[in-house]
Amino acid sequence: MTLQGKVALVTGASRGLGKAIAIELGKRGAKVGVNYAKSADGANEAVAAIQAAGSEAAALQADVSDFKAATDLIKATIEKFGRLDILVNNAGTTRDMLIMMMPEDDWDFVIKTNLKSAYNCSKIALKTMTRQRSGRIINISSVSGVMGNAGQSNYSASKAGLIGFTKALAREVASRSITVNAIAPGFVPTDLTSNIPENMKEESKKLIPLGRWGSAEEVAYAVAFFASDEAAYITGQTLNVDGGMAMS
Ligand code: NAP
Repeated sequence: MTLQGKVALVTGASRGLGKAIAIELGKRGAKVGVNYAKSADGANEAVAAIQAAGSEAAALQADVSDFKAATDLIKATIEKFGRLDILVNNAGTTRDMLIMMMPEDDWDFVIKTNLKSAYNCSKIALKTMTRQRSGRIINISSVSGVMGNAGQSNYSASKAGLIGFTKALAREVASRSITVNAIAPGFVPTDLTSNIPENMKEESKKLIPLGRWGSAEEVAYAVAFFASDEAAYITGQTLNVDGGMAMS
């Protein structure tokens, strides 16, 4: 599945899943906009890895939860590479707390970072994709959005919201040959999951039929598939990449 000739933008690509996704898309030939909020070094590492694999990439700073910043990011990507074929809405965060103790700011921050960012980037990217009459939007949801997770009502709501967003948008833009899909990863070792205590990490494996956490690369392979021409007839779907944790 080659992505030669395609231009991709991955939000939150300076660390963790986003970085692995950006590198995987680059390895398959896509030119990649590597977005970051604060971690310029991590974004530059992803750019270097993509260039070493023989493709082009650029590190692009923007807080994608801010509409103006997200607009400028999409414009910068198109200015740099001439078009936009693949948008991966990956930027995300957590502020875990039982709801009785969860400050309102933590609710708002997680919804804005995880869900509104996808509205911001998709709305602007779709102007170009609609004109091109082709495109791929891939939203990174979570098993927490599929199953719900105690202590993560804000995060689970944002990730379930992304699944509804994916389905609605898929119906809106299908007539332009643009597909919109979601990936719902299970547990993957990144900074986001690094503060889970070791004993809970071991406990979590009992809930995973495959008996282990996934890798960022295993999520990236699924994104690369949705991004490919071979996935042209798949839209509005959520693919669980979670070792079998959530089965529908
Ligand atoms: P991570 O290691 O904490 O990395 C988060 C990334 O998002 C960083 O690159 C960060 O950029 C970026 N980011 C955060 N807020 C941003 C903003 N406002 N604007 C632009 N970029 C922003 O997290 P991760 O584990 O790779 O998670 C990536 C995505 O996968 C998230 O949506 C997460 O919910 C989802 N996910 C993760 C897991 C898991 O087990 N790890 C499971 C299911 C779903 P800076 O470094 O510049 O701050």
